[in-house]
Amino acid sequence: MTIRVYVGIGSNLNDPVAQVKEAIEELEVLPDTIMEACSSLYSCKPMGPQDQPDFVNAVVALDTLLSPADLLQRLQRIEELQGRERDGEKWGPRILDLDLLMYGKKVIDTDELKVPHPGMHERDFVIIPLAEIAGNISIPGHGLLTTLINKVENHSLKKLITG
Ligand code: AMP
Repeated sequence: MTIRVYVGIGSNLNDPVAQVKEAIEELEVLPDTIMEACSSLYSCKPMGPQDQPDFVNAVVALDTLLSPADLLQRLQRIEELQGRERDGEKWGPRILDLDLLMYGKKVIDTDELKVPHPGMHERDFVIIPLAEIAGNISIPGHGLLTTLINKVENHSLKKLITG
């Protein structure tokens, strides 16, 4: 049986809109996986250091037979294909960042994989695009999306391309 998963996409280098679109195309052709929905593309202020370009963010919904570990590996492969370098800077600029936000209702807490993705519940650039395609779902451990969105005070998201 397939599992509904949500993947967050972000980029702020090398033509971010093109990077996000390319990542969406790669996610569309993952094996044993169907893309069920794709949010609008949003422009968003960076977290952490502000002396870097704004990000472009989106969220997609996939129905997949892939295991969480297999999916994570494939997300990392797409990041690498698009030239992502892992330089260890946590909040630095990046060509492509793919986060496994949710894997069904599963809670995973290993060294390699934490699901729901830590911090996703308080990040406007995740929960706003997520609500666009997922409705008012509940994030395990954090409650309903609408409640979480209401807690975000002044978000900086601007819709760039409607999904
Ligand atoms: P980042 O620099 O944000 O791309 O973080 C990548 C690291 O986070 C990798 O080493 C992953 O193993 C780890 N990680 C833990 N949980 C997740 C998740 N839910 N989605 C993506 N990467 C994750």
